[in-house]
Amino acid sequence: MTIVKEKILAPLPGNYNLENYDEIRRTFTWEDASSELFWKAGKVNAAYATVDRHVDEGYGDKIALHYANGDERRSLTFREVKEKTDHYARVLKKHGVKKGDRVFVFLPKTPECYIAILSVIKIGAIAGPLFEAFMEEAVKDRINDCSGTLLITDRELGKRVPREEIPSLQTVLYDDEIEAEDVEAVPGEELTEWVGPEDGMLIHYTSGSTGKPKGVLHAHRAVSHHYVSGKWVLDVKDDDVYWCTSHPGWVTGSVYGLFAPWLNRATVIIQGGRFKAEDWYRLIEEFGVTIWYSAPTAFRMLLSKGDALKQFDLSSLRHILSVGEPLNPEVIHWAWNELGVRIHDTWWMTETGGHLIVNLPAEPIKPGSMGRPFPGITVGILDENGQELPRGEVGQLAIRTPWAGLMKEIWGNKDRFDAYFKYEGWYLSGDLAYQDEDDYVFFQSRDDDMINSSGERIGPFEVESKLIEHPAVAEAGVIGKPDPVRGEIVKAFITLRPGFRESAELLEDIRVFVKQGLAAHAAPREIEVMEELPKTVISGKILRRELKALEAKRAEESSVATGN
Ligand code: ATP
Ligand code: MG
Repeated sequence: MTIVKEKILAPLPGNYNLENYDEIRRTFTWEDASSELFWKAGKVNAAYATVDRHVDEGYGDKIALHYANGDERRSLTFREVKEKTDHYARVLKKHGVKKGDRVFVFLPKTPECYIAILSVIKIGAIAGPLFEAFMEEAVKDRINDCSGTLLITDRELGKRVPREEIPSLQTVLYDDEIEAEDVEAVPGEELTEWVGPEDGMLIHYTSGSTGKPKGVLHAHRAVSHHYVSGKWVLDVKDDDVYWCTSHPGWVTGSVYGLFAPWLNRATVIIQGGRFKAEDWYRLIEEFGVTIWYSAPTAFRMLLSKGDALKQFDLSSLRHILSVGEPLNPEVIHWAWNELGVRIHDTWWMTETGGHLIVNLPAEPIKPGSMGRPFPGITVGILDENGQELPRGEVGQLAIRTPWAGLMKEIWGNKDRFDAYFKYEGWYLSGDLAYQDEDDYVFFQSRDDDMINSSGERIGPFEVESKLIEHPAVAEAGVIGKPDPVRGEIVKAFITLRPGFRESAELLEDIRVFVKQGLAAHAAPREIEVMEELPKTVISGKILRRELKALEAKRAEESSVATGN
């Protein structure tokens, strides 16, 4: 099944950090990308590169961040961020943290959360940022998995840390204790631990969309990937105001909320509190946000909110970026029509450390596609034997190894790590896609989510995208439901937009809409309306695995009931 061709969106006029994609692609090397970076006699430190360097280069007074939470506002310069990071680093050293130790940070989205992460990295330890909504079990599992020795938290979140069940955890420091600790700078002190590019920097757990989250270890070398992708894909410049909505407990919130923008000396917005459409728009207006990075789930919510945006002036926006799930063309058209800007989809994974497939501001967008390979990245679409398939054919999305941001290991699980590299010279993503003649890559589904109905392979993304084009549908999760005759049938779980009520006529109308707009075999045989779709906690991705589990449970119950 091939994507229905969508209208191409041309680049908006402007000066972009990367103007000539084709030329850069020919000449790019990862060595060049990092040559202007941060190396001191072959040594590196990601925290130094991200913040301290700007102070040393004379930009200490530039605003590094604006913090907004309800009515509270605070701003810090790069010098202030550095000084506070140094203070945190001294406290950590006093408590015996050493190079390579795993130090977790469990704080709400505040400047201190960013500072704590940087302070851990500065002294050569490995930072493990935890998402603020994690409950006891999630916190415990992650710290235990990699034997974390110290945790930085606050009085509230700290209540969710079951210390007696985490034997490796020697120390818990509360943010107010750290702030109050009396650790003086000593003349000539060197807080920054200069490390090798392969030394560990960050451990991030994957979203858990397909199963148990994996502990992905990243090395300091990843900063050159963060830096160039921040420069070219985010396109941040000195006068930009940049806002990434995710918490650093998700890899997007650390790589593209903290490292990439600050490596490029951008001013970032840090917003506390929960999602509310009006608050988000108000922040964009108040701070004149120029570049905004969020996820399809948030855009779909904004879209179904309709008029919420009319009262705000959002004209400061230059472009928007999206990550985490397939970006439905409907959402791109909404932003184009309502906000006058493009949404640039980006594809990458916790394991990849940075963007791999992107839409650049100076290049055309094909809605429905994730974009083209980042310079230095080669995409392969592989068959079951690891052989490359011709353009246009759907197969396993793989990337030529290596590149700067690629993970170093899956913590404590060599077999899982090796599984990504089962075809020589390739990294295997676990996603299915095809690539067109112009190099654009079209996501089809995760490997496990592809639907096989009467011999036809159907990607849930296309069906979901068509479903949300229907005026009544807010969100959709599509799965293959086991069927004795067809193997699987297409089943859609949907939520309705405000003002619509479930009825047999409406569901039939939706089904016909997909049938006519996409294909008869792709039209869901069953549509079920839900109040909410199940989603991952940190990144808000639709959990098809749970929808499938729900169906399996029902099937089992009905077979028990009927005695089959
Ligand atoms: P887990 O690995 O624990 O099952 P996860 O794969 O959701 O969870 P992440 O690293 O947060 O963990 O997400 C990477 C995955 O997200 C990709 O493999 C892909 O399936 C999906 N994804 C990310 N960006 C995009 C995008 N732009 N379009 C489509 N899918 C995307
Ligand atoms: Mg994954």
